[in-house]
Amino acid sequence: MRTVERIYIDGAFVTPHGTEMFDLFDPARGEVIGQVRLADAEDARLAIQAAKRALLSYARTGKAERLELLRALHDAVLSRAADLEEATILEYGAPVARARWTARYAAESFLNAAKTLEAYSFTRPAGVSEVVMEPVGVAGLITPWNANAGFICNKLAYALAAGCTAVIKPSEMSALQTEIVTEALHAAGAPAGLFNIVTGRGDVVGSELTTSPDIAKISFTGSTTVGKAIMKAAADTVKRVTLELGGKSPSLILEDADLEAAVPMAIMAGFQNSGQACLAGTRILVPEKRLSDVLPLAKAAMTATKVGDLRDPATAIGPLVNAKQYERVQRYIRLGIEAGATLIAGGEGHPDGLGGYFARPTLFANVTNEMTIAREEIFGPVLCIITYRDEDEAVAIANDTDYGLSSYVFSSDLVRARAIAVRLQTGRVVINGAPHDPLAPFGGYKQSGIGREYGVFGLEAFLEVKAILGVGVSLA
Ligand code: NAD
Repeated sequence: MRTVERIYIDGAFVTPHGTEMFDLFDPARGEVIGQVRLADAEDARLAIQAAKRALLSYARTGKAERLELLRALHDAVLSRAADLEEATILEYGAPVARARWTARYAAESFLNAAKTLEAYSFTRPAGVSEVVMEPVGVAGLITPWNANAGFICNKLAYALAAGCTAVIKPSEMSALQTEIVTEALHAAGAPAGLFNIVTGRGDVVGSELTTSPDIAKISFTGSTTVGKAIMKAAADTVKRVTLELGGKSPSLILEDADLEAAVPMAIMAGFQNSGQACLAGTRILVPEKRLSDVLPLAKAAMTATKVGDLRDPATAIGPLVNAKQYERVQRYIRLGIEAGATLIAGGEGHPDGLGGYFARPTLFANVTNEMTIAREEIFGPVLCIITYRDEDEAVAIANDTDYGLSSYVFSSDLVRARAIAVRLQTGRVVINGAPHDPLAPFGGYKQSGIGREYGVFGLEAFLEVKAILGVGVSLA
């Protein structure tokens, strides 16, 4: 049993004022493996005050100092990548390949922010005036459990690059990962108060951040429901908000696609992060006249998708994060069957020989875009195949959703794929399985969020715009 009893305020590890203990689980076994002592509103207030004090001098630092800090933070997190990987396997149930990628990605966030900062100009002309981009102030950074370390590091990296200080409220379900990241960040030797990390409940610590007059900006990644509550709470103090929310992303397989390559890629786009990914391609759109070619390939791809042994580098799918998520996914599988969709693979229950919170990777065909399984974010390994007659209908189905985070297009013709991409209402369009680009903007249209992270857009999300008029105009 592991017990996490420290939070990080003003450059020091301290025991929280809060006393509530929260269970931590190994989702592969469904067993309690430890507890975290949660911070409360008083802890959050102390953290906010520390960040506010630190802002006075940090906001005035120049590029060189910030770049040095970002590089030190990168090195510090990278040096703990192996520990982070272990914690992500144990506490989140990530397969080792995913855990390894996310641990390194967390560290690299600091280098990506440094690269962006290095090339960025904080002043520019507008009309006959000067525009100066200034740090917005103390930032509240709130993360979900499905990529906790990565989001802590990415949000913090861009906040610091911009000259902001931060209070971080990580997911309460990810306390082991948070502890390792915190130790690493502390070891980098940053001035006290630049970042403060207070693990607590969303409606307690999170709510203190979203309502405090001393927080200027909230950067939140999580569900659309909580994102809406945050936007309302932040309105009273007119905070700037970046919201990275849910998705129901479409994968469009065009008629000319190389199906042998495209179908397995489309399945994997849906199963990213064991299906617990905001950008998972969960609606696979297939030309009606190619369905009979697609189905056997999709079945084969499902059979080839390895679920189970988290230590096997070939495993693609681990367990869901907790019992609630497991039950939620079971409910959606039942809803799909009741609505008349055809089960191509998977179904209710556990995969053979597995327990804990493992769900069966599931693929439905004969799905219409009106069915609940095609409209709501399931956040598990459950995918839908929907057919279309022509490309206009494919685009219409793809855009007929409350969400707009990501989409995927598969075609043998890049010009054709791009022509479809510009018609899709999503923050990202990935053509033919292109790899993640950490400097390209990331964020959603519609109810998938507000604002963008990564690169210049991610940096400017932590900057305020000031126009100085009359520079160089003398009164004489
Ligand atoms: P969640 O919304 O339940 O929680 C996210 C965070 O918000 C947690 O730290 C939680 O404690 C906190 N929180 C809860 N209530 C709060 C409140 N009233 N005020 C302030 N903070 C509060 O999300 P989750 O279940 O942890 O994560 C899964 C969701 O995150 C999915 O919907 C997924 O699509 C989304 N997500 C989006 C992105 C993206 O970049 N768009 C990335 C990953 C996950």
